[in-house]
Amino acid sequence: MNYLFELTAKEKSRQKNTLNLIASENYPSPKVLQLLGEIWSNKYGEGYPSKRYYAGNQNTDLLESFVQQKALQVFDKTGSYGVNVQTLSGSPANQIVFLTILQPNDVVLSPQLASGGHLTHMHTVSSFSKFFQPHQYTAKQNEDGSFEIDFEALKEQIVKLKPKLLIVGFSAYPKKYEFAEICRFAHQYNVFVLADVAHINGLIAAGLHDSPFKEGDDGADFVSMTTHKTIRGPRGAILFAKNYIPDFAKVYLDILPLDAKGQPVTSLIEAVNRTLFPGGYGGPHFNKIAAIGQCLLEVLGEDQYPDEIDFVTYSQNILRTNKILEQSLQKGGLVPVSPTENHLCLMKLPENKDSLEIQKKLEEIGIITNRNTFPNDTKTAYRPGGMRFGTAALASRGLSDQQAEQIGRIITDLIFDRKSKDDLAKEVRDIEQSLNWWY
Ligand code: PLP
Repeated sequence: MNYLFELTAKEKSRQKNTLNLIASENYPSPKVLQLLGEIWSNKYGEGYPSKRYYAGNQNTDLLESFVQQKALQVFDKTGSYGVNVQTLSGSPANQIVFLTILQPNDVVLSPQLASGGHLTHMHTVSSFSKFFQPHQYTAKQNEDGSFEIDFEALKEQIVKLKPKLLIVGFSAYPKKYEFAEICRFAHQYNVFVLADVAHINGLIAAGLHDSPFKEGDDGADFVSMTTHKTIRGPRGAILFAKNYIPDFAKVYLDILPLDAKGQPVTSLIEAVNRTLFPGGYGGPHFNKIAAIGQCLLEVLGEDQYPDEIDFVTYSQNILRTNKILEQSLQKGGLVPVSPTENHLCLMKLPENKDSLEIQKKLEEIGIITNRNTFPNDTKTAYRPGGMRFGTAALASRGLSDQQAEQIGRIITDLIFDRKSKDDLAKEVRDIEQSLNWWY
């Protein structure tokens, strides 16, 4: 066995023998992984179905069209969106939106990192801030101490800053939120809206969270999503855009890319497609596209995850076990930044605890987590004051309610030195060995 295969075996064993509470990871079905390794990877196909630059694309054309159709079937009940399945991951999907509609120095308004946003939302350290002007909106503290995005203050910022683009969507935001009102407001001021639902797309697909796919001004103009979190597919992304030019956007027609005949595009999705190819990318990764198709089939119930639990029940299991985990962590002494309403919980650590140390100690007993900042966190980005947890991955392995409760207790027993590391590691081992393992 060469080194690469040895390492692969080690990584498989690491994943099997630990409890993964990282809210942005999951265990896709073996069929998803199988398709990633299939012969699709051998084929080049620059362009789009029926318009490729190389021969031999009859099957890839069928594949890409099929996956596009399934993506629309899962997410768009309005018939107002088109889709591109070629973006390589969540970050490049967002970047394609920037390149489609922004000009140098345009203003972009996006959620602050500490308020739950993502680096690729044009955080100030983003390389894109060289070309555009990023501004951030934030969460406010409620009387009960919890935090939530201040949508009224955001509206004032829209009026004052006149951004070209507003990004709505989060990486570490435990609350539910709605899209229609802020989309309508932004559109009144000629602002494009990108909804980045990388984290919550599985909940949206299951009907357990509001959707940004809406008709007219109530809907986001662009929707980006990763495919490897709650939707339980391969690492990758899907990018949707309206299949027409909204009225407010007609003033921007001259900045959108031209179509292949040199004429103005007639939809935002056409503008996205031209920006991606020939504007920025080479050939699509058809193995990834095939694997995305498999997870969409599982969402639709046209194929099944190995536990044969339907996707809505799986998503309900995530919400329930995550809430139980949060309650258990709270009982053990941690404080939620805001009570969770989705697949993740964000907890504050006591002032005298170091999140990096705790993350390491948890890893030593077999619990995999990540440290996280939160609104008004006084600590540094590398050693922030909080931790983020989520149960999407463990729900795929059949985590029970009682185990979710127990894991919360183990974590807080470790943080507050209530039991020995050896005893806690043994408890972790017992849980992890009782869980399903599909590979
Ligand atoms: N957008 C959000 C909201 C995310 O949480 C993430 C990743 O965690 C991304 C974009 C980036 O996705 P990727 O890591 O696939 O580039």
